[in-house]
Amino acid sequence: MTKRIHVCVAWPYAAGDRHIGHLAGAYLPPDIFARYHRLAGNQVLMVSGSDTHGTPITLRADRDGTSPAQVVEHYHGRFVQGFQQFGLTFDLYTHTDTQNHWDVTHDLFLRHLERAYIYKAVQQQLYSVDDQRWLPDRYVEGICPFCGFESARGDQCDNCGRTYDAVELKHPRSKLSGGTNIEARPTEHFFLDLGKATDFLIEWLNRPDKADWRPNVINFARAQAESRELRGRPITRDLDWGITIPVPGYDDKRIYVWYDAVIGYLSATKEWASITGQPEAWLDWWQEGAPGLESYYFIGKDNIPFHAIIWPSMLHAYGPIQDDGTDSAWLKLPSDVPANEYLTLGDFKFSSSFGNVISINEAAESYQVDAWRYALTAMAPEANDSEFTWQEFVRRVNTELVANWGNLVNRVLNFTYKRFGGRVPEPQALDEADQALLETIRDGFAGVGALYEARKFKAALDATLRLSQEVNRYLNEKAPWQQIKSDAAGAGTSLYVCIQAIDWLKVLFAPVLPFSSQQVHHFLGYDDRLFGHQYTDVVTDARGQHLVLRYDGSQAAGRWEATSLQPGQALRQPETLFDKLDESVVDQELARMGIN
Ligand SMILES: [Zn+2]
Repeated sequence: MTKRIHVCVAWPYAAGDRHIGHLAGAYLPPDIFARYHRLAGNQVLMVSGSDTHGTPITLRADRDGTSPAQVVEHYHGRFVQGFQQFGLTFDLYTHTDTQNHWDVTHDLFLRHLERAYIYKAVQQQLYSVDDQRWLPDRYVEGICPFCGFESARGDQCDNCGRTYDAVELKHPRSKLSGGTNIEARPTEHFFLDLGKATDFLIEWLNRPDKADWRPNVINFARAQAESRELRGRPITRDLDWGITIPVPGYDDKRIYVWYDAVIGYLSATKEWASITGQPEAWLDWWQEGAPGLESYYFIGKDNIPFHAIIWPSMLHAYGPIQDDGTDSAWLKLPSDVPANEYLTLGDFKFSSSFGNVISINEAAESYQVDAWRYALTAMAPEANDSEFTWQEFVRRVNTELVANWGNLVNRVLNFTYKRFGGRVPEPQALDEADQALLETIRDGFAGVGALYEARKFKAALDATLRLSQEVNRYLNEKAPWQQIKSDAAGAGTSLYVCIQAIDWLKVLFAPVLPFSSQQVHHFLGYDDRLFGHQYTDVVTDARGQHLVLRYDGSQAAGRWEATSLQPGQALRQPETLFDKLDESVVDQELARMGIN
C-alpha cells in the first residue's frame, strides 16, 4: 500500500541566518527522508515555514532600529533562498504571519478553552523598572534554576533543555539595557494545562510503537511526563507583536510564540491544501488512523519538549475533529520525533547566539551543494553531539566522495564514452563475478532502503559507499583498459556491468546527493528527471502577501528499484562529478572565520 509520509520540519525564527549546524541537525535529514519516500513511490508532504513571532524577532528589530515585519521579510527571504539552493524539497515552506495561520491558531485556542485545557490566571511576570516595560521570555537572561547555567534564556535553558517561567530565573537581567532593577508584577494570562494532559502523555509515550524512537527523545519525554510535574504553561504575553487573543478584553496581549509555532505544522498543511485547490485534502494528512498515514518531526534536541510533550498534548486537547466516535476522528499524533543532537564547531556550540558562523546561504555559494550534503550527513549528530572541522570536511569530500564514488563514475563513463562510441556496450554472457556484483548492488535497494526508512541516514550513506567500493574493486580486477587490448567484447561486458551498477547506485545515493545523481542520470543518456522541481511563489491573503517555497513532483521519474539499462543507449559526454578540494581550504576558511 502506498503510504502517506508527512514530513514536519522545525520552524526557524526569522531573526538570523540559519547555519550549517542547523542544516545538519534539522533541515537536511527531513529532505533525505522525503526524497527517499518520493523515490519509493509514497505520497510525501513536507511542510514548514518561518516563525515570524517571538521575542528573538522583536529583539533583533529593537537592536537594528527596524520593524519586526522588516526583520521577518529579510530573513524569511534568506531562508527560502538557502533552502532552495540546498535542494530542500518543501511541498510548502511558508511563514506564520498569514491569515490562514492566525485562523488555525484561533481555532485551536478556542477549542482548548472550550474543553478546559486553557485556563486564565494571574501570574507574576518580570517588569524592568529601568526600561519601563515588561520583559517577556528572551528579553531577560539569568541563571538556570535547574542546572545553574549562567546565560539561560527566559523560557528555556540552552544547557539542560529544561523549560520554566522567567520568574524562576536567578539573577535576571534585561537583554535590552542590561539593567537588573527588575521586579515581578502581577498580570493576567492564559495557560495551557499540561497537567491535565499528563495521564494521556504517559499512556501515549508507553505505547509499543515508541520502540524505535531515539533513546534521547523517548527517555526525556517519559521522564517529564512520569514525574507528574507538568503544570500550566502561559501561552500569552504582554507584547504587541504576535497573534491576537480571540477573546474580548485582551487587546494589549498576544499569543505567545511557542503556542502558535507548533500549530504551523497543521496550518501549513491547510495552506498547502487550499493553494492546491483541494481545501479538504488536509484531512488526509491529519486524521489519526487514516490509511497509510505516518508523521515525522525533524528537529534539534532543544525542541524535544515542544514536539514530544507539548504538541501531542495540544493535539489531544483539541478533541475529536468529527463526532463519529472513531479513532480517525482525532488529530494525528507524531509517529516519530527523530531529534538530532548538535553539530558543534571547535569547542563552542554551533548556535546562532554565537554569531553566524557559516550561514546556509554562504555555504551554498562556496562549495558544491552535494559535497555539503554528503559531508554533513556523514558527520550528522544522529546519536551524539558531533564536531564539524574543516579538516574533516576536506577529508570526507576528497577521500570518500571524490575517491570512491566520483572517480568510479568518471573512470567508467570517460573510458566507455571514448572507446565504445559513446554508447552503453552490448554485454556478452555474464560470468560469476559479473552476476555476483550486480546481485550485491541490486540488494542495496532493500538494505539501504530499510536504513533510510529507519531514519538512519549515516548508516544508509555508509552502506551505499561500501557498494560503490565493491564496484571499484570489480573494475580494478577486470581492468577493462587492459582487457580491451586482447578481448574488446569482454571489456565491453565489464563496462556494461559497471554502468548498470552505477545506474542503480545513482538512485541509492540520490536522497543525499540529488544534484549529482541527476547529473549521472543525464550522462547515462536519460532525458527525464529523478525528482521534481522547486519553485517560489507569492501567496496573497487577508494579511497581505507572502513568499513561499514549493515543490512540483509531477514530472519526477526516479524509482527506488533496479531498472534495466539498455545496451546501445547513447551516453552523454561525461564531466567531472565532484571537485577535489585543495588542502588550503582549511586555512582559508579558518582565517575567514577569524579563528587562528
Ligand atoms: Zn539549565
